[in-house]
Amino acid sequence: MKKIILTGDRPTGRLHLGHYVGSLKRRVELQNSGEFDRIFIMIADAQALTDNADNPGKIRDNIIEVALDYLSCGLDPSRSTIFIQSQIAELCELTFYYMNLVTVSRLQRNPTVKSEIQMRNFETSIPVGFFTYPISQASDITAFKATTVPVGEDQEPMIEQTREIVRKFNSVYGETLVEPEILLPDNSACLRLPGTDGKAKMSKSLGNCIYLSDTPEDVRKKVMGMFTDPGHIKVEDPGQVEGNTVFTYLDAFSRPEHFTEFLPDYAGLDELKEHYRRGGLGDVKVKKFLNAILQAELEPVRQRRKEFEKDIPGVYEMLRKGTETARTVAAQTLAEVRSAMRINYFDDEELIRSQAEKFSR
Ligand code: ATP
Ligand code: MG
Repeated sequence: MKKIILTGDRPTGRLHLGHYVGSLKRRVELQNSGEFDRIFIMIADAQALTDNADNPGKIRDNIIEVALDYLSCGLDPSRSTIFIQSQIAELCELTFYYMNLVTVSRLQRNPTVKSEIQMRNFETSIPVGFFTYPISQASDITAFKATTVPVGEDQEPMIEQTREIVRKFNSVYGETLVEPEILLPDNSACLRLPGTDGKAKMSKSLGNCIYLSDTPEDVRKKVMGMFTDPGHIKVEDPGQVEGNTVFTYLDAFSRPEHFTEFLPDYAGLDELKEHYRRGGLGDVKVKKFLNAILQAELEPVRQRRKEFEKDIPGVYEMLRKGTETARTVAAQTLAEVRSAMRINYFDDEELIRSQAEKFSR
């Protein structure tokens, strides 16, 4: 069986460090590994509209931002097909058929959707489209027969829902769809990177993000203002490393060579943590170290972004081509789905012949 990746992002804002460690960096590595037959990267604008129906301008403007973030992180359109979800009508049709295979109570149990409903104050007025977006996500994944979906931990319930839909579809209509596997980050700090405010998740909607396209000065300010251990007031106080955002970020981003380069007094992260726990290590020193690491990681991304920003029409053209390619693949899967469901009436000569026979009797 072919190895195929499908993943993507909602164009609700520029991409941030959570996306980077949760999914984006991995995608680039997988792309460059050459182990996959095909890679599809989707800008999920239709999904973004499910909770932004009154603000299509925001979604429209962020499509190019997300595309620039992709290119500047090293996604390469000659190896990965980058496309825009809403331009592929086949995905909507698949969603409509899959809706019949999922119950309302099953959707209500989805923990990610539950917490997102809370976050958006949707409790009494959930848009139907938002409520059903896990089904639409199943369409996106299955339309490309994806075997592998590299995403952050919050997407686990969506992949499970997709697998259930695939099993149900295949058992009712015959083997047609492919069951995908989730691919989570290996590093546990990257599963769900917290926001700079210490909240559970860095998220565009919560305004606690460090963006890939932030200026060096923005990044520095955000790092210096980061949530740490509220009990660690004086330098000599013992400090907590668990739940301390600066240390979580160091878990996610620091590598041994960063110590050699920026903080040679310490052999590595364990020694730094130990000093902080003991007391006598100030937040400012740790934050400066984190800032140096992030600047080193982001500088090449910023430089590449500047180059791509010089040819915006070229970026749209890349998206147009990618969307065309993706559409051909989705159309093929939809044809197979219709045929499995036996709703391909006009292509089904056997159906027409047998009906003719029935009426001639
Ligand atoms: P929104 O608030 O609009 O939902 P978001 O910041 O949650 O935006 P998405 O577009 O929903 O971003 O997520 C895109 C991908 O990035 C998903 O694979 C998701 O798991 C991953 N991701 C998002 N935020 C984080 C995070 N803080 N840590 C790790 N992965 C993340
Ligand atoms: Mg999200």
